Amino acid sequence: MIIVLLGAPGAGKGTLATALKDQLGVHHISTGDLIRAEIKAGSAIGLEIKRYVESGGLVPDEVVTKMIEGKIKSSYTDGKGYMFDGYPRTNAQAADLDKILSGLKLNINFALYMEASMDVVLMRLTGRRVCKSCGAVYHLKNMPSKVAGVCDACGGALYQRTDDNEETIRNRMTVYADNTKPIIDFYKAQGKLKTINADKDAEDVRVALLNILNGKDV
Ligand code: ADP
Ligand code: ZN
Repeated sequence: MIIVLLGAPGAGKGTLATALKDQLGVHHISTGDLIRAEIKAGSAIGLEIKRYVESGGLVPDEVVTKMIEGKIKSSYTDGKGYMFDGYPRTNAQAADLDKILSGLKLNINFALYMEASMDVVLMRLTGRRVCKSCGAVYHLKNMPSKVAGVCDACGGALYQRTDDNEETIRNRMTVYADNTKPIIDFYKAQGKLKTINADKDAEDVRVALLNILNGKDV
C-alpha cells in the first residue's frame, strides 16, 4: 500500500502516519524529519538547507527528491509500502515521485487530502511540542504530556520547533497555498484523491482513513 498524505502544515499528517504505520505495516517517510535530521547532524546538505526551513520556505526540489529516492531505493524490496508525509510538496516533486515509483514497478494507491481549517491549523502548530530524543509529538492543550516539558515515551525534554513561531508559520501557509495545494488537482486528475475532514481529533481521523482502506468511504 502506498499512500501520499496531503494537507497544510498542522493538518495532522505526521500524527496520522505515526498512529497507523505499524498497524498498516508501511514505512513512514517524512521529508520534514529527514531534513531536520540532516540539519541536526550538521552535514553539508544540512548546512545548505537550514535557511530554507528556518524561513518557512521550501528546500529545493532536487535536494528533497534525492533524499526520498535514496530512502525508497534502500527499502522498497521488503514490499511493505509507504506513507509519504510532507512529500510531494510541489508539482515537480509529484511528477518525480511517480517517476521514481514507476521505475520500481510501484504505484501510489491514493492520496489522502487532510482538509483542515486555518484556525485549527494555527492552534495546532503554535501549541506543538516535540521530544528532543525520540521525536514524539505533543500539544500543550490537545495532547499534553503527563509531566509538562517531559516526554511520556522516553523522558526526553520537549521543545518547540524553531519554525513553529507565528511569523514562520504564516510563511509556511503561504508557501502551502502557492505550491502544495495545486498538487491536490494533480491527484484528482489521476482519480486518486480521497478527502477527509482533518479538523476532527486524531482518533476520528485515524478511523476515517481505516474506513477508506476498508472501502467504507462512499
Ligand atoms: P509542516 O508540514 O508542519 O510544515 P514538515 O516537518 O513537513 O512540517 O516540514 C518542515 C519544513 O521542511 C518545511 O517548511 C520545508 O522547509 C521543509 N520541507 C519538508 N518537506 C519538504 C519538501 N517535500 N520539499 C521542500 N521542502 C520541504
Ligand atoms: Zn521522547
